[in-house]
Amino acid sequence: MTEEKQYGGPDYFRMAAAFLVAAIHTSPLASFSAEADFVLTRIAARVAVPFFFMATGFFVLPQYLFGHSMDNRPLRRLLKKLFLLYGAAILLYLPVNLYAGQFEGVGIGGVLRMVWMDGTFYHLWYLPAVMWGAVLVCFLSRRLPWTVVTGVSLFLYLIGLFGDSYYGLAEQVPALRAAYDVLFSISSYTRNGIFYAPVFLVMGAWIWRVERRNDTPRGIRAAGTMIFLGLMTVEGLLLHRLGVQRHDSMYIMLPPAMYFLFRFLLSLRIRPAKSLRMISMWIYLLHPLCIILVRGGAKAVGMEGLLVENSLVHYLVVCGVSFVCACVAAVGFGKTVMGGIGNERRSFKEGRAWIELSREHLRGNVWVLESLLTPGQRLMPAVKANAYGHGAAAVAGELQNMGIRSFCVACAEEGAELRRNGITGEILVLGYTHPEDFHLLRKHDLIQTVLDHAYGQQLDRYGKKVRVHVKIDTGMHRLGERAEKTGEIREIFRLKNLQVEGIYTHLCADETRREEESAFTEAQAALFYDVVKDLRKRGISGIKTHLLASYGLLNYPELGGDYVRAGIALYGLLSDRRGAENCKADLRPVMSVKARITVVKELHRGESAGYGFSYRAAEDRKIAVLSIGYVEGLPRSLSCGRGRVLIHGKSAPIAGKICMDQTIVDITGIEGVRAGESAVILGRDGEEEITAYEIAEKAGTITNEIVSRMGGRLERVWSD
Ligand SMILES: *Cc1c(COP(=O)(O)O)cnc(C)c1O
Repeated sequence: MTEEKQYGGPDYFRMAAAFLVAAIHTSPLASFSAEADFVLTRIAARVAVPFFFMATGFFVLPQYLFGHSMDNRPLRRLLKKLFLLYGAAILLYLPVNLYAGQFEGVGIGGVLRMVWMDGTFYHLWYLPAVMWGAVLVCFLSRRLPWTVVTGVSLFLYLIGLFGDSYYGLAEQVPALRAAYDVLFSISSYTRNGIFYAPVFLVMGAWIWRVERRNDTPRGIRAAGTMIFLGLMTVEGLLLHRLGVQRHDSMYIMLPPAMYFLFRFLLSLRIRPAKSLRMISMWIYLLHPLCIILVRGGAKAVGMEGLLVENSLVHYLVVCGVSFVCACVAAVGFGKTVMGGIGNERRSFKEGRAWIELSREHLRGNVWVLESLLTPGQRLMPAVKANAYGHGAAAVAGELQNMGIRSFCVACAEEGAELRRNGITGEILVLGYTHPEDFHLLRKHDLIQTVLDHAYGQQLDRYGKKVRVHVKIDTGMHRLGERAEKTGEIREIFRLKNLQVEGIYTHLCADETRREEESAFTEAQAALFYDVVKDLRKRGISGIKTHLLASYGLLNYPELGGDYVRAGIALYGLLSDRRGAENCKADLRPVMSVKARITVVKELHRGESAGYGFSYRAAEDRKIAVLSIGYVEGLPRSLSCGRGRVLIHGKSAPIAGKICMDQTIVDITGIEGVRAGESAVILGRDGEEEITAYEIAEKAGTITNEIVSRMGGRLERVWSD
């Protein structure tokens, strides 16, 4: 559970990459030195597009590559976005195509080739390439381990190389030449979604994984980048000299150079800048139009000598115009598309005390847990208790976006709440629903747990069809029909109004693999599967089974089941520090809690602060008041110096008793603290971190209780 990562580096590099793409299309150094221009635009600038591929791979593909996810939704969402963008771009450039007569004499086949591979304008090939590449990688990942997928994509890149910078060599072999001729009739270059994009997409996903496990020093990443870029320059110049290049996008040294460059960018500790993502995309889309604009404008005002013939000035002007157009487009688009939603100004979410959720960590945890699943097994995240305090709507929404379609909650009302927030998948209610609330189950299409035989009968008497999972008690002796009561269990399955879709049990000693726990857990599983087998023998099959929760998945993955009801681990925690220390999976906490400093004041020697003289200043002290109290979930047992908060990255002990809405902390020795700044209650601030483990230990409980009690007036915001 290591430090917070901030992936702002790639956001800034996106801008650089967009300007490099513009350089490829304007040759900024051409008026000075053809050689220098070649190095800049045909070698150095070739990092731009692979970078964009890698960013896509990094943010979208790990789930497929490592999780072997069968879920198409995240992929579909990516494709839909690209598809719309591509469609819009085709329309945008259509007038230019027509004006320049680019469709004339190419025939239907030619137009098709343009649309599905080459792009209808010279820069647009990128969009079909990401789509093809992503589809290919996801498809391969379904069936093959990631190492093989990597091998395949490298092999495709190799084929690509010999149709690109190394074509002059391939051309010498007649068979190869014929093969490439066929290829080029389908796609004008091998720099496309099949031969070029996959390796970078895969590498992006890969790096996501590597980044979680090791921390290569930034110096090595920088050195690697320089070395391989240097080698690539030598390679490019050599190939150029030899005259073997057919095109100049693909070099042998490009993938290693990109690997180090991307990792270098990730190591920069810069805040993410979302606006740059939009602006860089617009620069990429619009710069060819801007080139036309600048040329036309220069001609109109008779300044072609400066604005066009001087290649560097031309480039800079194109960049400037593209940037302005991109900003206008980004703002205009944002306003028209996003405007009108949420116009009413509500209170500032970070005004008082709030929870910051890390999307990156949540997604990472999902991927890590998914990588532990057996084939065909799925996560059914526990989002009960407001997603353990994280905010059920926000968390379940994000999980749904990631393709998860089963959830479990504690009660019917929690299920209803998810439905009201647009959650469409299966929702299993794990606990008791009062007969007065049975209508909610149907209204919101929830699945109710049959708590035991008697409850099953009660549910049946409701008289209308209800979807259920049957719970079996295999030793926890909480909910569930006792496993040995096979007669009763079979009867539940015969109840007319119950549509039984699943059967499950809950483990109660799976926190370790110590001997006694192990034996007990295995006995629980054996009992459970005996029941399943008995039912099967009686012709009851095709129902889902599940028994693992977080600890079960981490410690006893071999026990199987169709679903894994992971809760606490999904939020990047285990119940206690021992659990975290034993856990080999790289899980990261999703929640941080922060509060405003509302007042800073001196406390003179002998004075007390808070209720009941519980904090008295032995000498002059400085204190700060925070707008968070026990109502928000800060355990009152942390009062009087047992707990602490972080301000300016330093510890400030809690002074006196935690109040309902406020907390006083001692900030003596922390320089320059001002009202309006924020304090970290849970989470990281610079080098210091207050973990849920620390708070739980001090409060004498487990992290589950600490985070799920975070609520009250807390607002929730995504930090990334
Ligand atoms: C809460 C709950 C879970 C999730 O447990 P974690 O330990 O948080 O993963 C799973 N199953 C049942 C029945 C639960 O009540």
